[in-house]
Amino acid sequence: MYKLTQQSYIAGTWVSPKGEAFQAQNPATQELLSKHNNCLESEVNSAMQAAAQAYPVFSQLSPTDHANFLIAIAEEIEALGDQLLEVCNQETGLGLPRLTGERGRTTGQIRAFSEIVKNASWVQASIDTAEPERAPLPKPDLRKMLKPIGPVAVFGASNFPFAFGTLGGDTISALAAGNSVVVKGHPSHPATNELFAYAIGKAISRCELPKGVFSLLQGNAIPLSVQLVCHPLTEAVGFTGSLTGGRAIMDAAAKRAKPIPVFAEMGSVNPMFFTNNVLAQSGESLAKALAGSVCMGTGQFCTSPGVIVIQKNDSFVNTLAESMSANAKGVTLNASIGQAFLKGVRDFISTGKVEWVNNDEVSLTSTTNNALLPPNVVLKTTASAFLQNPQLQSEVFGPATLVVECDDDAQFTQIAKVLEGNLTASIHAVDEDNSLVKELLVLLEQKTGRIIFNGFPTGVEVCGSQHHGGPYPASSNGTTTSVGIDAIHRFTRVVAYQNTPTQLLPAELQNANPYKIVRRVNGEFSSQSI
Ligand code: NAP
Repeated sequence: MYKLTQQSYIAGTWVSPKGEAFQAQNPATQELLSKHNNCLESEVNSAMQAAAQAYPVFSQLSPTDHANFLIAIAEEIEALGDQLLEVCNQETGLGLPRLTGERGRTTGQIRAFSEIVKNASWVQASIDTAEPERAPLPKPDLRKMLKPIGPVAVFGASNFPFAFGTLGGDTISALAAGNSVVVKGHPSHPATNELFAYAIGKAISRCELPKGVFSLLQGNAIPLSVQLVCHPLTEAVGFTGSLTGGRAIMDAAAKRAKPIPVFAEMGSVNPMFFTNNVLAQSGESLAKALAGSVCMGTGQFCTSPGVIVIQKNDSFVNTLAESMSANAKGVTLNASIGQAFLKGVRDFISTGKVEWVNNDEVSLTSTTNNALLPPNVVLKTTASAFLQNPQLQSEVFGPATLVVECDDDAQFTQIAKVLEGNLTASIHAVDEDNSLVKELLVLLEQKTGRIIFNGFPTGVEVCGSQHHGGPYPASSNGTTTSVGIDAIHRFTRVVAYQNTPTQLLPAELQNANPYKIVRRVNGEFSSQSI
C-alpha cells in the first residue's frame, strides 16, 4: 500500500510546494480531506525543463520501447489495487462499481495504444519516390510521417478521474506518440493524482526512461494553469473540462508569443430529437430510458442529454418528469459543481421562458444549502423561446434536461439550424420519418461529432471508429478525437524528408520497411519494401 504524502511529483522527485493550501472534500460525507499545496512558477519551470530534456531521448525510442512503457503504466495502475478505488471514491463519491469500470476502461485504452505504437502503424507514412528524368524538372524523393510534437501540458476533468484524469486519454495519447507530459492535477481529486504519479514513476524506473518524461503539478490556482500553458517549453495542450476552463486555457495560449495547438474537450448539451411517430409507438419506455440517461452519474457526463426536442406531448413529458423524480438523487463531484448546477437551473427559470416541470419534489431554495445533493430536474420551454434565447443552449452540468416543445416538424429543422457545436446529437425515429430524418442529418452533421440513432449519448465506446469531439464550443478543434486510438494524432507534427539517404530516415520511411507497416507509396497503399 502506497503511503500518500500530499506532494507533487517533478521528474522522479516528490516535492513539497510552498503555494497556498487547498483541500478536496468527500462529496458523500462533506468531510474535508488532506491538505495539498499549490505548485508555484518555480515548480512549473522545473517540470517543463525536465520534460524538454527528456523529450529528445524519449521521442527517439523504438516502437517496442514505447509500447512496453505503456504496458508498464497499465500494470502499475492495476498494482495500486483497491487503494486507488477507495481513495478516488472518497474524493469523488462516484462509487466503487463505476470506478472499477472506469479503471478497466482506462487500462484497456492504454493497452490499445500500446498495440498501435508497437506496430508503428499510426504514423501515416507517405512516400513519393524520385523521378530524376522527369521534364522539365526532376521530381525529388519525398517522404513524410507524423512525429511527436514536444512536451505536452495536460489538464484533466473531475468527472472522469481515471479516463480523463492524470493518466487518462490525453496523457496516454501524448506519451504514446513519444512526448513528455506535465499534468496539472485536478484539485477535486489530488490524492488520486498522487497515486497515478506514483504508478507512472514506477513504470519510468522499470523501463529506465528519463525521469522528466512525466511530472504532476498539484494545485487549484488559475495562475498555475496559465503559467503551464504559457511556458515557452510547452509545445501543445490537452484539456478536458468545462467551457469556462477550456476557454480560459485557449485564451491564455492565444496570448503566447509562439502559438501552440490547444486540444480542449469541453461541455455539450447533446440534443436529442424524438419524432411523433416514435413517441406514439414507445413514448413511455423512451421517457423512462431518457430519465435514466440524464440521471446517470448524477448527470455529470459531457454526453448527458441536455436538450430534448419533441412535438408537444404532455404524456411523454409527464412520464419523463415522474421517472426523473423517482430516480435516486446522487451527489455532485464537488460543491462548486453543485452550486454551478443550481445556478444554471435558476438562470434558465429566470428567463421567464422556462418552466420547471417536476418542481413539486423539492424547491431550489431548500436545496441551496446542499449543493452536493441536487434534485433531478426536468425543464420545459417552447421552440420559439429556444430559438430566440441562445443562453438556453448552455450546459447545466448535472441531472437536468430541457424539453423543447415544437408545433411541427419544420421547427425541428429550425432548431437543428441554430444549434451550437456539440459532442453528440441523437435521433429517435421510425422508417416513416425518413424524409425528416434526412433533412436533420444534413444539418446535424455540421453541428456535432457523433450522431446516434435510436439510442442515448451517454456511454462512449472506446474504439478506433469512435469520434469524441465536435465543433466549438464542444471542442477547440472539432477535427480531432480525445477518445480512441486516433487521439494520438493530436500530439504530433508532420515532418517531410526530401532526398534523404534511406539509412538516415526514420525506420518507418526506410526502403526496407522494417516494421512492415502500411504506407502510401506513389499513391498506392502497400506494406512492401521499396
Ligand atoms: P473544470 O472546472 O473546467 O476543470 C478542468 C481543469 O481546468 C482543472 O484542472 C481546472 O483547474 C482548470 N480550470 C478551470 N477553470 C480554469 C480557469 N478559468 N483558468 C485556468 N484553468 C482552469 O472542469 P470540471 O468541472 O472538472 O469538469 C466538468 C466539465 O468537463 C463539464 O463541463 C463536462 O461536460 C466537461 N467534460 C468534457 C469532456 C469531454 O470529453 N468533452 C469529458 C469530461 C468532462 P482549477 O480547478 O485548479 O482551476
